[in-house]
Amino acid sequence: FQRIKAEQEAAGEMPFVNPRNAAAGSLKQLDPKITAKRPLEFIAYGLGFTSEDAEVPDTQEDLLKWLRKFGLPVHTTTHTWLCRSVDEIMAAINELDSLRHQFPFETDGAVIKLNDRALREIAGYTSRAPKWARAYKYAPEQAQTLLRAITIQVGRTGVLTPVAELDPVFVSGTTVSRATLHNEDEIRRKDIRIGDTVVIEKAGEIIPAVISVVTERRPPEAQPFDFLAHIGGKCPACGGPVKRNPEFAWWVCENPSCPAQKTRRLEYMAKRGALEIESLGGIVADKLVENGLVDEPLDIFNLTEEQLATLNLGTPSEPRVFGAKNAAKLIETRERARTMPLGRWLHALAIPEVGDTTAHDLAR
Ligand SMILES: [Zn+2]
Repeated sequence: FQRIKAEQEAAGEMPFVNPRNAAAGSLKQLDPKITAKRPLEFIAYGLGFTSEDAEVPDTQEDLLKWLRKFGLPVHTTTHTWLCRSVDEIMAAINELDSLRHQFPFETDGAVIKLNDRALREIAGYTSRAPKWARAYKYAPEQAQTLLRAITIQVGRTGVLTPVAELDPVFVSGTTVSRATLHNEDEIRRKDIRIGDTVVIEKAGEIIPAVISVVTERRPPEAQPFDFLAHIGGKCPACGGPVKRNPEFAWWVCENPSCPAQKTRRLEYMAKRGALEIESLGGIVADKLVENGLVDEPLDIFNLTEEQLATLNLGTPSEPRVFGAKNAAKLIETRERARTMPLGRWLHALAIPEVGDTTAHDLAR
C-alpha cells in the first residue's frame, strides 16, 4: 500500500487514503491491466452461488475447512473462534484485540456469525443485511501529542475548516501529523489552544480528530483561540471577505473567484467515483487555476496537450514542467470521461447533498 501511494504521489495523482480504499478502487478500475498490477490478495470466508448438487457443509467451521481443502486462501484457524456463549464470544473478541496489531493488515473489528447454516435460515435477513451476523467494532485508538499550529483549509464551497498541525504521533498503524478541528464552535467548546497537549483519535478510515485537551499540560501563555483574529478577518487563500454562516458553525470565503475554491472544484470533478481524470490533484490543479488555464472545472476539456505538457509546476526561477507523458495520460482519461455514464457527471457537478448514490439514482 505504501509503495502504491508513493508511486501515485510521484506521478502527481491523488493517492489512496487507506488500504481498503485502495483495494476497492483497484477492483473498480476500468482497465483490468491496472487491476492486475495491484498487489491484491483474496481471502475466502463465505459462499455466493453454488450449484444445487454441491454438497456444502452445514456449518461455518466446516465450510472454512472445505474451502481450504480446495486450496483456496482462508484465514488461519488462529484468527477464527468457535464460541458457545456470549462470555466465550467476548473472550474471543478480547483475544483478537491483543493479536490484531501484529497482523500484516489493518483491522477495526470482528464479525460474529451463527455457525449452523440451518439456524441462519431461521434468523433470516433484513432488507440490507443478514440477521445471523453482527459486526463488533473496537474503540478507536487514542494518542496524546502537541498541537503546534492551527491552519485553515478552504473547501470547494468556500467553507473554512481549521486543521490541527501536530507533532507526529503513531496511532492505529499510521503516523498522524494533522487532525481536523471541525469548526469554530468545536474549538471553543473543547477550549483548544495552540501549544496545548491534545488527545487525538483515529479509527480506520476516519480522518483523525482532536477529542480533548490535557489541561494540566497547558503552557501558561496559551491564549483562547479566536478564529476571526487568527485569519486576520479575511480568507487565508485569497484575502477575500469572510462571513460566518448564521445557520451553521462555520466561516465561509465569500469570494466566488477564490482560487482555493476553484482548485477544490476541479479536484472534485476529477476524483475517483466522479470523472476519474488522472493527475488532476494537488499541485497540478493549483497551477492550472493559478495560471488562469482553468476558471471553472469544465475548462479542463478545452485545454490542449501542449498547454498541459508545458504547465510549470515549479517557480519561474526553478521551472518543473508537467511533461508530455503526464499530459498524454491526462488527455486520455479526460477523453474517456466524455462517455462516462450520466450518474458520474451528476456526481462530478458537486451539487450539495448529491453524493455518489443520489447521483446514480437521479440518473436512473
Ligand atoms: Zn477565498
